[in-house]
Amino acid sequence: MIKSRAIRKLPECDRCRFYSGSPFIVCAILPAGPVGAECPHFAPDPNAEPVELWEPEGATYYNGELVLQPPQRWSREQQLELLDTHPMFTGKCPSCGYIFERDYSARVHYDCPECGWMDDSV
Ligand SMILES: [Zn+2]
Repeated sequence: MIKSRAIRKLPECDRCRFYSGSPFIVCAILPAGPVGAECPHFAPDPNAEPVELWEPEGATYYNGELVLQPPQRWSREQQLELLDTHPMFTGKCPSCGYIFERDYSARVHYDCPECGWMDDSV
Protein backbone atom coordinates (compact mmCIF):
# COMPACT_ATOMS: atom_id res chain seq x y z
CA MET A 1 0.00 0.00 0.00
CA ILE A 2 1.41 3.31 -1.05
CA LYS A 3 1.14 6.05 1.45
CA SER A 4 0.79 9.38 -0.16
CA ARG A 5 2.26 12.37 1.54
CA ALA A 6 -0.34 13.94 3.70
CA ILE A 7 -1.61 16.95 1.91
CA ARG A 8 -4.04 18.86 3.96
CA LYS A 9 -5.85 21.87 2.81
CA LEU A 10 -8.53 23.93 4.41
CA PRO A 11 -11.83 24.89 2.82
CA GLU A 12 -10.63 28.46 2.55
CA CYS A 13 -7.49 27.41 0.65
CA ASP A 14 -9.55 27.53 -2.53
CA ARG A 15 -10.09 31.20 -1.97
CA CYS A 16 -6.52 32.01 -0.95
CA ARG A 17 -4.24 33.92 -3.26
CA PHE A 18 -1.37 31.56 -2.35
CA TYR A 19 -3.30 28.42 -3.25
CA SER A 20 -1.49 26.53 -5.97
CA GLY A 21 -4.35 24.48 -7.34
CA SER A 22 -1.95 21.53 -7.60
CA PRO A 23 -2.87 18.14 -6.10
CA PHE A 24 0.68 17.78 -4.76
CA ILE A 25 1.33 21.19 -3.31
CA VAL A 26 -1.25 23.10 -1.36
CA CYS A 27 0.30 26.51 -1.64
CA ALA A 28 3.51 28.39 -2.17
CA ILE A 29 3.94 29.13 1.53
CA LEU A 30 2.91 25.82 3.07
CA PRO A 31 3.38 23.10 0.45
CA ALA A 32 1.97 20.42 2.73
CA GLY A 33 -0.85 22.60 3.89
CA PRO A 34 -1.60 24.31 7.16
CA VAL A 35 -1.20 22.34 10.37
CA GLY A 36 -3.91 23.82 12.51
CA ALA A 37 -7.53 24.52 11.88
CA GLU A 38 -6.66 27.94 10.56
CA CYS A 39 -3.96 29.06 8.21
CA PRO A 40 -1.96 32.04 9.45
CA HIS A 41 -1.04 32.90 5.87
CA PHE A 42 -4.52 32.90 4.48
CA ALA A 43 -5.06 35.87 2.18
CA PRO A 44 -8.31 36.05 0.26
CA ASP A 45 -7.83 36.05 -3.46
CA PRO A 46 -9.77 39.00 -4.83
CA ASN A 47 -10.14 37.20 -8.15
CA ALA A 48 -11.50 34.00 -6.70
CA GLU A 49 -15.10 33.09 -7.27
CA PRO A 50 -17.15 33.55 -4.14
CA VAL A 51 -17.93 30.22 -2.57
CA GLU A 52 -21.63 29.63 -2.46
CA LEU A 53 -22.57 27.61 0.54
CA TRP A 54 -25.80 25.78 0.48
CA GLU A 55 -27.67 26.40 3.68
CA PRO A 56 -30.47 24.05 4.62
CA GLU A 57 -33.43 25.67 6.26
CA GLY A 58 -32.84 26.34 9.93
CA ALA A 59 -29.09 26.09 9.58
CA THR A 60 -26.36 28.45 8.63
CA TYR A 61 -22.66 28.40 7.95
CA TYR A 62 -20.53 29.88 10.66
CA ASN A 63 -16.75 29.89 10.19
CA GLY A 64 -17.21 27.24 7.52
CA GLU A 65 -19.18 24.94 9.77
CA LEU A 66 -22.81 24.15 9.37
CA VAL A 67 -24.58 25.29 12.49
CA LEU A 68 -28.14 24.47 13.30
CA GLN A 69 -30.11 27.51 14.32
CA PRO A 70 -32.29 27.30 17.36
CA PRO A 71 -35.86 26.81 16.25
CA GLN A 72 -37.53 30.07 15.42
CA ARG A 73 -40.35 30.98 17.66
CA TRP A 74 -42.31 32.35 14.74
CA SER A 75 -42.29 31.23 11.17
CA ARG A 76 -41.83 33.90 8.53
CA GLU A 77 -45.53 33.73 7.66
CA GLN A 78 -46.46 34.11 11.29
CA GLN A 79 -44.14 37.06 11.63
CA LEU A 80 -45.69 38.74 8.61
CA GLU A 81 -49.16 38.04 9.89
CA LEU A 82 -48.16 39.48 13.22
CA LEU A 83 -47.03 42.65 11.47
CA ASP A 84 -50.40 42.89 9.77
CA THR A 85 -52.59 42.13 12.71
CA HIS A 86 -50.81 42.80 15.96
CA PRO A 87 -51.82 46.05 17.66
CA MET A 88 -48.15 46.67 18.38
CA PHE A 89 -47.86 47.39 14.65
CA THR A 90 -51.38 48.29 13.57
CA GLY A 91 -52.58 50.18 16.63
CA LYS A 92 -55.87 48.37 16.30
CA CYS A 93 -57.49 45.48 18.07
CA PRO A 94 -57.34 42.53 15.69
CA SER A 95 -60.66 41.33 16.99
CA CYS A 96 -62.95 44.34 17.03
CA GLY A 97 -60.88 47.08 15.45
CA TYR A 98 -60.69 49.16 18.59
CA ILE A 99 -58.07 51.87 18.12
CA PHE A 100 -55.50 51.86 20.84
CA GLU A 101 -54.26 55.13 22.20
CA ARG A 102 -51.65 56.99 20.30
CA ASP A 103 -48.84 55.84 22.56
CA TYR A 104 -49.78 52.24 21.87
CA SER A 105 -46.25 51.44 20.71
CA ALA A 106 -44.98 51.98 24.24
CA ARG A 107 -47.33 49.40 25.61
CA VAL A 108 -46.21 45.98 26.63
CA HIS A 109 -49.57 44.30 26.80
CA TYR A 110 -52.40 44.90 24.43
CA ASP A 111 -55.61 43.93 26.05
CA CYS A 112 -58.56 45.36 24.26
CA PRO A 113 -60.88 47.29 26.60
CA GLU A 114 -63.69 46.92 24.09
CA CYS A 115 -63.93 43.22 23.33
CA GLY A 116 -61.55 41.76 25.84
CA TRP A 117 -59.07 40.53 23.24
CA MET A 118 -55.90 39.55 25.00
CA ASP A 119 -52.45 39.61 23.61
CA ASP A 120 -50.98 36.17 24.12
CA SER A 121 -47.94 36.59 21.91
CA VAL A 122 -45.67 38.20 24.47
ZN1 LIG B 1 -61.20 44.49 20.64
